[in-house]
Amino acid sequence: MTFKKFIKQVFFIEILKGLALTLKHFFAHSVTRQYPKEKREPFPGSRGLHALVRDAETGKEKCVGCGLCAAMCPSRCIYIYTSEGEDHKKVVDRYEIDVLKCVFCAFCVEACPYGAVVLTEHFEYSDYSRESFYYTKERLLENWDKYMSGKKGEEYFEKFWKPKSEDLALPSTTRTSVGATL
Ligand code: SF4
Ligand code: SF4
Repeated sequence: MTFKKFIKQVFFIEILKGLALTLKHFFAHSVTRQYPKEKREPFPGSRGLHALVRDAETGKEKCVGCGLCAAMCPSRCIYIYTSEGEDHKKVVDRYEIDVLKCVFCAFCVEACPYGAVVLTEHFEYSDYSRESFYYTKERLLENWDKYMSGKKGEEYFEKFWKPKSEDLALPSTTRTSVGATL
């Protein structure tokens, strides 16, 4: 054992160093948030409760009942019931999501060709009954009104979900060859 090591052991230097570190953190600012008293804004684009987009012009759902979202849903928790309207157009009678089964993958959002379903940033919806997590069309539209209507909904959708035209563009070399084939 070296002399230096001997001194360290006799005077408990390492222990004193550890205690000093603990003491230093005693007076440091706490980083723990006292939720729910202390809250922070959800991160933009975070995946919270679902909503059906309400068309600003008609005041009705944008959804046309094509069923793509339900087909893509890995949890099979979207249920759509349609009928034929007077003008032979599809009418969405019921659109329901069993939120307790959802894994928040957002495949439904990505699959929808009409931008008719979104995941809002709202995440505080705990409850005591299973029924309260079964969202009907009316409740999903209410979610849109509450959490996403107006500029927020438009911006959110544009920023996080709508594929940008450049994302869909083919690489320049491929584009040339496709053009040549055509
Ligand atoms: S987020 Fe995923 S699991 Fe949830 S409803 Fe949409 S597709 Fe289904
Ligand atoms: S939400 Fe979109 S993908 Fe789903 S049924 Fe309606 S229009 Fe089709």
